[in-house]
Amino acid sequence: MNHYVVVAGMHGCDPEAVAAARFKDTAIEAAQEEYGLTDGQASRLRKSGLVRTDPYEHTVDFVRLVRCDCDEAEEHEGWNDLS
Ligand SMILES: [Zn+2]
Repeated sequence: MNHYVVVAGMHGCDPEAVAAARFKDTAIEAAQEEYGLTDGQASRLRKSGLVRTDPYEHTVDFVRLVRCDCDEAEEHEGWNDLS
């Protein structure tokens, strides 16, 4: 089953997985909440799967949205299947 995983971090460091959801919009909302992304950044993330952020403002310098189809979606950190 397809789902979406949000990964974020600092360039050159191991990224952290922060959210996962069955639906793209849910994953993006979670990323927005976690890192205070602007609406513009959120729509860039939706379109390209990657957005560069200001580490001083957002605590990370990139946020990435990855489509995943592993069989253990519920095992992802921050799994959210509310919508
Ligand atoms: Zn997965």
